[in-house]
Amino acid sequence: MRKKIVAGNWKMNCTLPEGKKLASEVIHMVEDEVNNDADVILIPPFIHLTGIHSLIGSSNNIFLGAQNCHQHQSGAFTGEVSAEMLISAGATYVILGHSERREYFHETDELLADKVSFALDNNLTPIFCCGEKLEVREAGKHEDLVKTQVEKALFGLTKDQIKKVVIAYEPVWAIGTGKTATAEQAQEMHAFIRKQIADKYSQDVADSISILYGGSVKPENAKEIFSQPDVDGGLIGGASLKSRDFTNIVKAFD
Ligand code: PEP
Repeated sequence: MRKKIVAGNWKMNCTLPEGKKLASEVIHMVEDEVNNDADVILIPPFIHLTGIHSLIGSSNNIFLGAQNCHQHQSGAFTGEVSAEMLISAGATYVILGHSERREYFHETDELLADKVSFALDNNLTPIFCCGEKLEVREAGKHEDLVKTQVEKALFGLTKDQIKKVVIAYEPVWAIGTGKTATAEQAQEMHAFIRKQIADKYSQDVADSISILYGGSVKPENAKEIFSQPDVDGGLIGGASLKSRDFTNIVKAFD
């Protein structure tokens, strides 16, 4: 059985008091109202990690994640944060390769391959993001592009390593735009990604990996998207900043 996951990427939003309020509301609502076994991951800015970690406490199904990490253990990399630091602050997940990091910080699949393997070496679970821009989809090249992203960043991993990775398919044209991929488009790409993994590793490995959909998921569309056989949950941006909306997205698995 694959893990169901709903992860909230807060991006560069919320002061510490705002973040603590948001996290407390989500934690209480999830504890009181959710009737499923999905893992919930709160992914605040780095500086809020320890504060949010103390609110999560020892919950069995609410976890902490970071939005990025560096590919070296430590050293003269001003402004960067290492995997070991994230673990020490209570994070167990890290988003790698978000389209905003690719676009604004020029992260390449080669760099992401290093980051993914470094995160795994430090027992941090990568949430590896892949997905095409609108022009690529319109040119009918979306599968080729996602295949290349997955191959370059993940296929240097061993079987045991890749089993620990979570993949998030996030079509760039659907992120923060209000335009969601249809449930069929999400399913088609998720099945395609799973097949690439099955061909490279094995069907068992492919069947064990959670693949999340990201791109304007809201309480209104979450149920339909999450009900697709190869969609194991969501990476949520905008809607993760509203405790009621985010909780209702988690409840889509009820
Ligand atoms: C994201 O940034 O990963 C994302 C999916 O954002 P949104 O839900 O706002 O489209």
